[in-house]
Amino acid sequence: MELEEQAGRILAYGEICDHCLGRFFGKRSFGLSNADRGHALRVAHALRENVPFRAHEGACWICHDLFADVELWAGRVVEALAGIEYATLLIGTRVPPLMAESEELVWSELDLAGPEPLKSEVNREVGKAVSALTGKAADLARPDVVAILDLAAGSVELEIAPLFFRGRYRKLERGIPQTRWPCRECHGAGCERCGFTGKMYADSVEELIGRTAAEIFQAADAVLHGAGREDIDALMLGTGRPFVMELVAPRRRTVDLASVEEAVNTAAAGRVGISIGGWSSRKAVETLKSEKPHKKYRISVEVEGGIARKELEEALDRLRGAVVAQQTPARVVHRRADRIRERRVVDARVAGQEDGRFFLDVVGEAGLYVKELVSGDGGRTRPSLAGLIGRPARVVQLDVLEVEGSEEME
Ligand SMILES: [Zn+2]
Ligand SMILES: [Zn+2]
Repeated sequence: MELEEQAGRILAYGEICDHCLGRFFGKRSFGLSNADRGHALRVAHALRENVPFRAHEGACWICHDLFADVELWAGRVVEALAGIEYATLLIGTRVPPLMAESEELVWSELDLAGPEPLKSEVNREVGKAVSALTGKAADLARPDVVAILDLAAGSVELEIAPLFFRGRYRKLERGIPQTRWPCRECHGAGCERCGFTGKMYADSVEELIGRTAAEIFQAADAVLHGAGREDIDALMLGTGRPFVMELVAPRRRTVDLASVEEAVNTAAAGRVGISIGGWSSRKAVETLKSEKPHKKYRISVEVEGGIARKELEEALDRLRGAVVAQQTPARVVHRRADRIRERRVVDARVAGQEDGRFFLDVVGEAGLYVKELVSGDGGRTRPSLAGLIGRPARVVQLDVLEVEGSEEME
């Protein structure tokens, strides 16, 4: 079918605007708008059929004259963006199913080769109008904000790209979980058990950093991604644990990270301290989660009936460098798969002695369960300190002294 014949068939479907008419041939030629194409086809049709030229009037059966409202939509976008800091923007459109079906019907019935979908013309035209109003550039790959036009609802929704910064945290107080821990009874809804907080613990490392950060970035939420985690009752000392903080839907983007570090350290003083290394990304979160850093622990150990330093040191000599087979500890087996893992004890030595208890420094591969390395966990961990000395031993206190990090985390 020839172009002119196709145009005639389309005009016969019903009243149509120049945009929608031209868009059916949107991939033909360059330097033309769809409205230019539509107008030219309408002229060609009048000449070919030798009938009076008639411009579009009334309502377009496909778009209901949406393109007359481009400025209106641009205004709605600008209004929605008020108070939000961004450098680049992208427009997206939620097209009502009936509108999309109308044009798809014509594509298939006329077997059209190069139509452009309604959605992409709306995105482009409204995008140009918004850029003219705001002076901000479009970015197709990684815009700071995506403004989604909901054509049916007549409203604009914003998707603000998250921001990430990386750093290391030290946890200086026991009893703080790394991330928010929803109440076991109500799963976050709030009940008597949790004092209607919805949480098992009032604070977490995530909140102690995130509350302040979210306030500065005017973010909807702040999510902590840690390189592993310490037990709730363990301190995180030394240079701290690498983390990436994700700011969800931040309304501010140009923030001085040094001031964030200072504000967090002031607000969380004595509980959590951070040093911020710089800006980060979603990709760095994946790297952080896949890294298997060695960890150094300082543990305080109690042996039933006491132990002489020499005997303890001899046992540690045998643990140092050993590959330990650990069946999932009894204390976590209710929430993790029950299987045997092999982890290496990189180092283990006596670090000090106090009130009949020894302090040990243990360096282990990621995933080594240190409490079970000492207790033996009823035979689930072999070898173990308790197994080697032949009597019960347990960890009284455990702190993390060091988490190795790759350069990407620093
Ligand atoms: Zn139309
Ligand atoms: Zn509760």
